[in-house]
Amino acid sequence: MLIDSHCHLDAPEFDADRDQVWQRAQAAGVQKVVVPAVEVSNFDAVRQLAQQNEGVYYALGIHPLYVPRAQPNDLAVLEETVQQALDDPRFVGIGEIGLDFFVSELCTPEMRERQLFFYEQQVALAARYQLPVILHVRRSVDVITKYVRLHPGLRGIAHAFNGSQQQAEILVGLGFKLGFGGAMTFERAKQIRRLAADLPLEAIVLETDAPDIPPAWLGSAGEVDVTPLARRNEPAQLARMAQVLAELRDQPLQRVIQQTGQNAVDVLPRLAR
Ligand SMILES: [Zn+2]
Repeated sequence: MLIDSHCHLDAPEFDADRDQVWQRAQAAGVQKVVVPAVEVSNFDAVRQLAQQNEGVYYALGIHPLYVPRAQPNDLAVLEETVQQALDDPRFVGIGEIGLDFFVSELCTPEMRERQLFFYEQQVALAARYQLPVILHVRRSVDVITKYVRLHPGLRGIAHAFNGSQQQAEILVGLGFKLGFGGAMTFERAKQIRRLAADLPLEAIVLETDAPDIPPAWLGSAGEVDVTPLARRNEPAQLARMAQVLAELRDQPLQRVIQQTGQNAVDVLPRLAR
């Protein structure tokens, strides 16, 4: 089953044509999509999107890029919303949470502390409710992994994975799946392509991260003649990304689609409902 395990379908980039975007994705063979929240103010939006559209699922969490404007009380709001969502078949876990040590504003000592605080609290929340996590991991694999280890049994996805082979193996050994999408479509992304080719297929989930990380064929951000809208990534692109993964691995497309879909369900069991 073709599953987009990470797509911000609620993003303003899709305000004008969200229904068509999801219809195009379904027409391209995408059967399910996971929409992670990024901050308290979009919890309602992701839940409604899931409840109103067949095949749409959601996660709840505070994204590291939204930590600067998050309030400590937001964690209480998150927990309350999670409690209310526990019986909701479309609710799959805690995300998008994590650490971003790439964006410079987030790398001051205070911001690193603040990110760590929100990440640690949300990982603990996931463990408390035995829910999987959807992780944003940017220049932070080792710290992310350290906190994962504190909660044996915690499972989830390291989305848009961009670490080393060794870091990948550690996360996979802990029961995590690694998300691959637009980045692996670029020839120059040698390490990501090597990982996508060499990791066990059981370790991989597919994702678009739409509207972000557009694939190579939509034109790179460096090209001035491409309009931002033309570069907008969307879940329908997942079908061609699956094809790229199959080619990189020299495996049949159907096998890649079947196993990556199964992997997504294994790690986010509520996707089976
Ligand atoms: Zn994301």
